[in-house]
Amino acid sequence: MNAKSTQTDKEPTVRRGRPEIVDEFSHLPVSRQRKWQLRQMAKGGCRICGQTAISGGYCLKHLVHEREYSAERFGCKRENLNCKSRLMEKQMETQSARWEA
Ligand SMILES: [Zn+2]
Repeated sequence: MNAKSTQTDKEPTVRRGRPEIVDEFSHLPVSRQRKWQLRQMAKGGCRICGQTAISGGYCLKHLVHEREYSAERFGCKRENLNCKSRLMEKQMETQSARWEA
């Protein structure tokens, strides 16, 4: 115990690399990936890619992916054709078609 304390006393505290992020998520007992997700969601970004989130902490691309993946995972037969992600998808398709023409 004494040896450890003398070693730390001798060495000057030189901090290397990126400085530690100190915020409301830094003390949580979760992985660094989860902390990144929580920081993105608090910032209003997608929890996967970090772009601007539309709903549920996802961007449009990952909202669509999550919808399809969860429907397959839980064996859903019916589809809500007027859900937010589908409407946004249609809107983006019409916008891109307008730009191409
Ligand atoms: Zn995303």
